[in-house]
Amino acid sequence: MISVEQALEQILSHVDVLEEKEVPILDCLGQVLAEDTYSSINVPPLDNSAMDGYAVQSTDTQGASRQSPRFLRVIDTVAAGYISRYEVELGTAIRIMTGAPVPKGADCIVRFEDTDETLREKASTEIGISAELKASTNIRRAGEDITKGAKILSKGTVIRPAEIGVLASLGHSRARVIRRPVVAILATGDELVDVNQPLPEGKIYNSNTYSVAALVLRYGAIPKILGIALDNEGSVVAGLRQGLDADMLITIGGVSMGNYDVVKDVLAKEGKIAFWTVRMKPGKPLAFGTIKGTSKTGTARDIPHLGFPGNPVSSMVSFELFARPAIFKMMGKKNLAKPTIEAVIENAIMNRDGRRIFARAIVEQRGGQYFARLTGAQGSGILTSMSLANGLVIVPEDKAGVEAGDVVQVIMLDWNEEMVQFKNIRQEV
Ligand code: AMP
Ligand code: MG
Repeated sequence: MISVEQALEQILSHVDVLEEKEVPILDCLGQVLAEDTYSSINVPPLDNSAMDGYAVQSTDTQGASRQSPRFLRVIDTVAAGYISRYEVELGTAIRIMTGAPVPKGADCIVRFEDTDETLREKASTEIGISAELKASTNIRRAGEDITKGAKILSKGTVIRPAEIGVLASLGHSRARVIRRPVVAILATGDELVDVNQPLPEGKIYNSNTYSVAALVLRYGAIPKILGIALDNEGSVVAGLRQGLDADMLITIGGVSMGNYDVVKDVLAKEGKIAFWTVRMKPGKPLAFGTIKGTSKTGTARDIPHLGFPGNPVSSMVSFELFARPAIFKMMGKKNLAKPTIEAVIENAIMNRDGRRIFARAIVEQRGGQYFARLTGAQGSGILTSMSLANGLVIVPEDKAGVEAGDVVQVIMLDWNEEMVQFKNIRQEV
């Protein structure tokens, strides 16, 4: 049996960064930028006003105060998006709105609050200035955000909403990114029935296809659902054939020791098995190998195949530990690990068979410290224990267990914004 680290290392050694693709900027959220991005414009393009107020010459404000305002002649009004035809000279002012280009001649903007505008008629041709301003006050300089010619985003950047905004501010409608992997998902099991069907006696609904497909989506890849295969080689092979154009194949179930667990046999015949057990709980029977497929251009290639155990918790935990990093590597990401924190565990957990335990837990912060408590029964078929959890407590394989009060490592599945919700659900239970 190999360790979690060895398993991950082998899986990662079989996946490569995918090709680049140009996509509309809104489609590339969470993807990795494939090229350095330079700006061909200044942002903002012109000096403009940071305030609603009056564009004036700062020398005209010298000595101005509430008690003795300086009175200037208003010669124009300019809104954002327009350029005044007039020039500000000594003794004059142009009424200006936030974002409007600073008129010629003006070197500062007096905000409305520092004038007597509220005391005047709307169309007054005079304004009283009641504050002394230095040159440049309330002016946003051309190029102060982005300078023409500068490198703005580096290759390798993970695109977040802010980067999409930056791309838009440069006028780009598309970006070159590493494309999203397609992950084909095949459920196996004579007992499985798809959602929305009547449930005959002895059967269960196929939940794993959906939890795994949702994880694929959550981490930025594209699920390709291959449906349900029966517990025989022919059916599994036929199912897998539908996914040979994918970047990764995931089968669910059929990898344990039972008579009908045929996925390993299929993997051995149709490809190569790298390993099939990992020293972890849940998820010990986890097969990995490669299956021969074809690329879009028709050339032969090996597709990484992850054979998850069928228990609903096992397949989700296996996904987080192994499929997620592999998907991230294909997407060109560098940080493959989920965040891990230290927390005080509030339950004892026994480790009887020397495997690394990933226990479902609720992590909460109290008084500047994290606390983790188990979500209840830890059987790998109890999917609701996963739904209640926001973290996985790690019990190392070389420890006989942990005691309440021990400090443990916890892999965070979700962070704070969702934690409130977990707490509420927990209280209702
Ligand atoms: P297996 O790994 O095929 O031996 O399955 C282990 C357990 O997980 C069995 O109780 C299966 O019925 C259950 N199981 C397998 N696949 C699924 C699935 N797609 N959805 C829900 N439960 C499943
Ligand atoms: Mg099965």
